[in-house]
Amino acid sequence: MKRYDSIIIGAGPAGLRCAEILAKAKKRVLVLEKKKIIGPKICAGGVSLKTLNYGIPEKLFEKKFNQFKYYNKDKSITIKSKKPFLAMLDRKKLGQWQANNAKKAGAMIKTGSKVTSIGKDYVVVSNKEIYFKTLVGADGVGSIVRNHLGLKNNKIHLTMQYIIQGNFKELEIHFDSKICKEGYKWVFPHKGWASIGIGFDPKRNDIKKVRENFNIWLENKGIDTKKAKFESMPILYDYQGFRFGNIFLAGEAAGLTYGLTGEGIYPALASGEEVAKIIIDKNFNPILIPKILRKKKIQEILITIITRCSFLGVLLHTLGFWLMKRKKWQSKAIRLTLS
Ligand SMILES: Cc1cc2nc3c(=O)[nH]c(=O)nc-3n(C[C@H](O)[C@H](O)[C@H](O)COP(=O)(O)OP(=O)(O)OC[C@H]3O[C@@H](n4cnc5c(N)ncnc54)[C@H](O)[C@@H]3O)c2cc1C
Repeated sequence: MKRYDSIIIGAGPAGLRCAEILAKAKKRVLVLEKKKIIGPKICAGGVSLKTLNYGIPEKLFEKKFNQFKYYNKDKSITIKSKKPFLAMLDRKKLGQWQANNAKKAGAMIKTGSKVTSIGKDYVVVSNKEIYFKTLVGADGVGSIVRNHLGLKNNKIHLTMQYIIQGNFKELEIHFDSKICKEGYKWVFPHKGWASIGIGFDPKRNDIKKVRENFNIWLENKGIDTKKAKFESMPILYDYQGFRFGNIFLAGEAAGLTYGLTGEGIYPALASGEEVAKIIIDKNFNPILIPKILRKKKIQEILITIITRCSFLGVLLHTLGFWLMKRKKWQSKAIRLTLS
């Protein structure tokens, strides 16, 4: 009978960071990943300042930005900082780099290994039971571990993105109520391509209509989507805890993604790391997870204001736009949302 100190389901940023830390502490760790290749994930690949400080090598960043264009309908402001505060990552390269780190530390990673059920102290892969002392669900949206724990998935945003070939220079964030209620759009330029996408609440919008409006918006922007790859995936930001006896959740499986900005890579890395530290030492006091939760709360209060009262939502965007014209508020906003 095979028994590991920890089994981690999912080789995304959360699972691989958790595996690396556990393996460094000499724990017997197994990461189970359903995909054959580690890394690729539907994602715009934008990371903020705090992720830049996470030890990720320079060569993994495709582009760095010290400014972006913030649009409210047709008007725009350029939000600037002296130092870069946003960067673009290739998810495949990030995954491969993290997997190497975890393997070097001694973790075992099995790809093409989908967990199909979970028992009291074992998981099932290809009809075989593999036993654990602790289990970490780092398996993203639709997490089997989260389902096993009986947690609901109430707070979800739907995203749609096109992968467009070409050299895009400006990083853009758009708010435009004509396309969908309370949604946002982004243009994230990478090396030779860009992710151009939209995120919105699927309960408050007609999905088909949003896609039509999004296509019209792209057409008006002069962007040809005929040869572009279209992708769509939900983002889960419904946090209901991360510690359940000997079962833990990390990253998006724990709903730790930010609701308003959709940023999930940093919360995945940070929570993967702190979950590992708690497994190693049950008295470890997490610092990053509570910080993420505090910021998530602020973002979710804003989401509630925007969704409960369209008038207040419009007022908030207008006020935000007006404040962003001032340098002092620009740096405050960069610090609040990105650091
Ligand atoms: C369109 C879009 C754009 C985004 N843009 C950004 C962005 O610009 N910046 C940002 O920070 N975040 C962004 N996000 C969010 C970000 O992609 C996620 O929050 C982040 O990947 C979460 O990391 P994770 O490790 O928790 O989970 P994931 O990266 O989702 O990894 C989970 C892994 O678990 C595996 N898995 C799932 N079920 C099983 C199973 N049963 N058995 C075995 N393996 C399993 C999956 O194959 C996957 O590899 C975006 C998301 C979307 C949808």
